[in-house]
Amino acid sequence: MHRDETSLETKLIHAGEPRPRVGGAVVLPVFQSSTYDYAGQMDYHDVPYIRLNNSPNHRALHGKLAAIEGAEAALVTASGMAAISSALLTVLSAGDHLLAQDGLYGGTHGLLTGDLPDLGLTTTFVNARDPASWERALRPETKAIYVETLTNPLLQVANLESVVAFASTNGLVSMIDNTFASPVCFRPAELGFDIVLESCTKFMNGHGDIAAGAVVGRADLIDRIKRRVDHLGGTLDPHACFLLHRGLKTLSVRVRQQSDSALRVATFLESHDAVETVSYPGLASHAQHARAAALFDTFGGMVAFELRGGAAAAERMFSRAELPIVAVSLGGTETLWIRPAVAIHQNLSPEERARSGIGDGLVRMSVGLEAADDLIADLGRALGP
Ligand SMILES: *Cc1c(COP(=O)(O)O)cnc(C)c1O
Repeated sequence: MHRDETSLETKLIHAGEPRPRVGGAVVLPVFQSSTYDYAGQMDYHDVPYIRLNNSPNHRALHGKLAAIEGAEAALVTASGMAAISSALLTVLSAGDHLLAQDGLYGGTHGLLTGDLPDLGLTTTFVNARDPASWERALRPETKAIYVETLTNPLLQVANLESVVAFASTNGLVSMIDNTFASPVCFRPAELGFDIVLESCTKFMNGHGDIAAGAVVGRADLIDRIKRRVDHLGGTLDPHACFLLHRGLKTLSVRVRQQSDSALRVATFLESHDAVETVSYPGLASHAQHARAAALFDTFGGMVAFELRGGAAAAERMFSRAELPIVAVSLGGTETLWIRPAVAIHQNLSPEERARSGIGDGLVRMSVGLEAADDLIADLGRALGP
């Protein structure tokens, strides 16, 4: 069977696995060893050592992640932010400039506005749905453009094909955070993105029990990022590698189930009197539904909605529902929900939040693996009189 024609589900199980199997083990064991026989490696970065991202657990993940993303190469890191910071610190040098989508994940926004300027790296935020505005923000020292597949928390979908075309016309590195979608929904490398970032803490591991990240994409860039991670030290621990590897095997069944349930939950919410608006890319009412349908295989497990009664109604719903847990993070087996205005975007002023469409009553929901019928019944009770 030719690798490239193998489906994602089969790659999740078999790609990257060492052959012959280590000790005949059907499941790759955890290599809890910090160092390995030195075999004359002449490049420091090839020396077999735990921080240098080359244990059997790391290698298996790199092969599997590259295969499932349809990319040339991959690297796992200690967290999503380790992946994002290491990739940016490789692509950008002192004096360089970045174009970034507005409304980015809070940790990334904090890095771009609070940390990178100290190193001489500046960012201009642009509206990723308005390609005409990117040209105006371009400078001679602009090196990269950075977007997210689905924005947080409103789940908007940027003009992603235009981002790739714009980057290639202007000699920029195109970078995308695909965490909210996962490769089951969308594989940006196949569209031409140079670097794809995943917080594997979320859907990729999917069990809410580790922090991990991945950088996937062009082999020359991944090699440079690996060398930087070797020095910065944000390496994924082998035991976390083992858990991520185990979690990945069920990625497709989990995300497809979560997508099905999320569509049913979103449809239910949209029809409910207590609900003002629902944002889910799988709904025909979503502003970029057509684009999402063209680009994505499935629409993912994240839903955002606003209740007519605002924050008080959201808090009432939280306290009355029995299944969803009020917590940050996403992509796990338990349904989680949160009010982004208080828990995630508290660094924005009320005016900035209003401009970004993040009302006080907005709820972000990560649909888990409970039965959709039970979630909908629970929501109905929680929203009822
Ligand atoms: C969680 C998250 C991150 C950061 O990942 P960590 O694993 O928490 O470091 C980055 N981007 C998005 C979209 C996320 O949801």
